[in-house]
Amino acid sequence: MPSTDAPLPRSRSERPLVMAGASLVDLTKGRILPDGLLCVGGGRASAVSSSTVRFADEPAPRVVEASGLYICSGLYDGHVHYRDDREAALYLANGVTTVRNMWGTDWHLSIGDRDSDAPRPRITTASPVLDGPTSAQTSTWPGVILCRSYAEGAQAATRLADCGYRMLKIYANLDRQALAGICNVARDRGLQVVGHCPGSLTFEEAARQGVSCLEHLENVESGHLLPEYERAIRSLRGRSKQLGPARTAVEALRLRTAGIDWLAIERMADELVAAGTAVCPTLSLYRMMFQDPEVALQDPALDYMPQEQIAQWHPRRDFRLKDLVPVWPEVVELSRRRLDLYLEIVALLHSRGVKIIAGTDAPNPFVVPGFSLHQELSLLVYAGLTPLEALRCATTTPMEHFGRGARSSMDALDEDFLLLDENPLQSLRTLRQPFGVVSKGTYHSRADLAELLERQRMNRSRPA
Ligand SMILES: [Zn+2]
Repeated sequence: MPSTDAPLPRSRSERPLVMAGASLVDLTKGRILPDGLLCVGGGRASAVSSSTVRFADEPAPRVVEASGLYICSGLYDGHVHYRDDREAALYLANGVTTVRNMWGTDWHLSIGDRDSDAPRPRITTASPVLDGPTSAQTSTWPGVILCRSYAEGAQAATRLADCGYRMLKIYANLDRQALAGICNVARDRGLQVVGHCPGSLTFEEAARQGVSCLEHLENVESGHLLPEYERAIRSLRGRSKQLGPARTAVEALRLRTAGIDWLAIERMADELVAAGTAVCPTLSLYRMMFQDPEVALQDPALDYMPQEQIAQWHPRRDFRLKDLVPVWPEVVELSRRRLDLYLEIVALLHSRGVKIIAGTDAPNPFVVPGFSLHQELSLLVYAGLTPLEALRCATTTPMEHFGRGARSSMDALDEDFLLLDENPLQSLRTLRQPFGVVSKGTYHSRADLAELLERQRMNRSRPA
């Protein structure tokens, strides 16, 4: 963007809309181009420089003055769980025009091809989750596909490839052999492997096996702790029965947060770059999920979430967190320190050239779809990225990295746009309330977006 010599979209049924005189935000080159045109009509949109546009003859476009505004690519949330269209309004109103869904179903696969005009962000989907058994020989989540060996990994990957998935989602309990089976099939079939770094591997080992994007950072400490902290973690494992799950988890978090070997993290970063592996750190997840629930409940964005879902977000209702309830204040305090550590790690990864993907993991507890991507961008800036660098993590970087390899109705960067009141390269705040959003060739004004949100607020107690 901007493309050159693009014909103005036209439609037999409606007059195209042209917003003229706005500045174009060129994210690739990091510059502002004056006098742009945003052309919307016939289910298509393009942003071009006014000197290069060719107008179609009929019907004559409706031209709207847009000087003083900025045209920027629509935002991409690189890690969500899109369950149904009740969340569509929250994404669109926040300028999120593409999401990467991290647990796919037949429905996600089918809407990649159908319903392309439906008022929802574009969805590119990963497969159902491939995981190994837990230590109790069960699965972490209901519905995961268990892979206990190289052969089971390869078979599951083949089946998912045959179903049409282009991106395979892996999880924390896979062992090295099962992961190798998955990665080898993915390589043969041209698929990407994305997901959690299995606990039995380090980040760089997963990258060497061919994992294309590592989600979250909670395993990043593995293999990268100072020797005395590695020893302390090993001895903690031996005492876990006597300490109980809550104390063990708190002590492990304390050790992992305090004992990072920064030289090892630097070497890891260089290996990720060499392997072309991206990292989606989901900083907003760590920021939002590990709070005092009373504080978390003050977030105005919760007005748009179903009340029964918010009730499920209390740590005592979450099977991953309920054991920690007796020590929750300690968990909150340690999680703040862990977030500080992760901000430093993201800054280091970025400075050494690792591709960073902005993703939120919405709707995990208190991570509200759409709104949370702005938190993620703020955290990336807080980590030390410039607004341009952070914005690329939510636009050009995921689009290039996942591209059309993930099944979806793509071309999003060329067709989805935000109209903004201010220059986002100076401050990202302007992204929070766009002047307008063009999604899949349809223009939504600020008033339209407010109405979408209001409808969502009124409907939030509606059952699924
Ligand atoms: Zn997730």
